[in-house]
Amino acid sequence: MVAMHTSALVLFSGGQDSTTCLAYALSRYEIVETVAFDYRQRHRVELESRLTVLDEMRVNFPQWASKLGENHLLDLAVLGEVSETSLTRDTAFQMQSSGLPNTFVPGRNLLFLTLAAALAYRRGLQVLVTGVCETDFSGYPDCRDDSMKAMQLALSLGMDRRFLIETPLMWIDKAATWQLAYSLGDQSGTPGGGAALVELIVEHTHTCYLGERGRRHAWGYGCGECPACALRARGYERFTCA
Ligand code: ZN
Repeated sequence: MVAMHTSALVLFSGGQDSTTCLAYALSRYEIVETVAFDYRQRHRVELESRLTVLDEMRVNFPQWASKLGENHLLDLAVLGEVSETSLTRDTAFQMQSSGLPNTFVPGRNLLFLTLAAALAYRRGLQVLVTGVCETDFSGYPDCRDDSMKAMQLALSLGMDRRFLIETPLMWIDKAATWQLAYSLGDQSGTPGGGAALVELIVEHTHTCYLGERGRRHAWGYGCGECPACALRARGYERFTCA
């Protein structure tokens, strides 16, 4: 007999992607907990917006609120010691000769998943949900489908626990991510939930690499220029024109 998966741990940073993953998990599982990692991000705004997003989820989607459990924050300061990246150092975003942006922290997602699995083990949670995506512009190798499958196997064998890694955004682009959020909100049981979830994401999630929250665009706050803002804006535009 195959055991049913009923509980999940969402890797939740407070950005658009992980908030959509949170809604995805809440629409499927009975118990959903969240985990974020503090690796001394240069911009603390994303870690802070995560608490606002959780509060707003509870208020606007009462049928999800009862499933939403603990929110964990793990200290990963060591990541700043082993890597030189524009996410933790005061250097500008740029592409490197390797073809990867200098926001790339080698193996970061592998570390995140390993720690998330250890936490899930202790909390008795079965599914790890993460917003990694192969269609993203950045092409981080530790976000690829093969990497996720290898991690699922390694973690399940190494911890002797059958973990499932779910990646609802793996094959979709940013426009489809907005559309997925709309559909999940729409099916949540909250009247007007589709528009409400999109609005929650626009208003409260944070994506901008520069940590800019001064200017409010149709797609949310951000500098509007960095690759993360450009991607989010383009996706939102295509979503609203569809
Ligand atoms: Zn930006």
